[in-house]
Amino acid sequence: MADKRDYYEILGVSKGASDDELKKAYRNLAKKYHPDINPGDKVAEEKFKEASEAYGVLSDPDKRRQYDQFGHSAFNGAGGAGGFDFSDFDFGDIFGDFFGDIFGGRSRRANNGPMQGANLRTSVRITFEEAVFGVDKELDLNLKDECSTCHGSGAKAGTTPETCSKCGGKGQVIYTQQSLFGMVRNVQTCPDCRGAGKIIKEKCTDCHGSGYITSRKKIEVGIPAGIDNGQSVRIRGKGEPGVNGGPRGDLLVEVNVSRHPIFQRKGFDIFSTAPISYATATLGGDVRINTVDGDVIYTVKPGTQTDTRVRLREKGVPTLRNRNVRGDHYVTLVVQVPTSLNSEQKELLRKFDAALSGKSIDSDKESESGKGRKKFWK
Ligand SMILES: [Zn+2]
Ligand SMILES: [Zn+2]
Repeated sequence: MADKRDYYEILGVSKGASDDELKKAYRNLAKKYHPDINPGDKVAEEKFKEASEAYGVLSDPDKRRQYDQFGHSAFNGAGGAGGFDFSDFDFGDIFGDFFGDIFGGRSRRANNGPMQGANLRTSVRITFEEAVFGVDKELDLNLKDECSTCHGSGAKAGTTPETCSKCGGKGQVIYTQQSLFGMVRNVQTCPDCRGAGKIIKEKCTDCHGSGYITSRKKIEVGIPAGIDNGQSVRIRGKGEPGVNGGPRGDLLVEVNVSRHPIFQRKGFDIFSTAPISYATATLGGDVRINTVDGDVIYTVKPGTQTDTRVRLREKGVPTLRNRNVRGDHYVTLVVQVPTSLNSEQKELLRKFDAALSGKSIDSDKESESGKGRKKFWK
């Protein structure tokens, strides 16, 4: 991460580049470095990924603003293994858009060329507080690795897979068919080698010809402060192994956040309720309020009505881009109406009520037996 290049520099555009300029720059780079055009070329692949990441950020107005303000650190919230998930950015859309002319109707990748491994998906459950402040979690996963005995070929030691004679190693067969509209050429995955281009006569005994060994692995995932329920963290290169020398896919970890007994979250703001006594609501005073930073003392104004909402600034959730920028915590103050008063307390309250309305004061005894009054205080 330390030597990460500037996104504008990668795309070769100025800071003020328009969306069209960005798209044009990325399109040119992508045409030059796309893995389909440079099979097996690691440098080209890196350049393609770099350009895709830069375009992924700069083409999104929100991400671009964050990047302009904070640079790369905007996307490295909790550091660690993570890095942000650009899976919401649909590269496929763009490829469909501007690779159509290069690849025409044929499949995007030659079947036997290097291919990136598939992405793996998993999920992890964390607490409300862990989502607020970030956490490192260890995942226990079954991961596929290239079989070290046959180096992924699937062939028994001392043997090598043979080139498929049906397709000549291409993995595809073309056949022509007479149809109502004339001769039609069809391309099909080779039925003999199933697209691999090679046929294994004697299978590797360790991996049974699959070329892969699955084992239990521990993987550390750095979950950034501010992550919300349902969001994913991408760990690059921890997905399925690539095919024919292609890079590994990524691991996408969906984060499930447990509910909190008193805090609710909406975006980066936190909501809760706090009880205040009738006297405090009336006279004003200090109340203790739970926040994710611990208890704070809030001074209630005299004459506070029930359901008054107060804001505790920057006691909310840190934003993903910058953990020093936080949402707010909104507290709804709920005035507690006493439910079980003794007769002395009731008497005091009657006196208070009478004083407010200027009525004469009844004695406790009279009012306990006085049916008209009883209704009011029961
Ligand atoms: Zn093997
Ligand atoms: Zn074949």
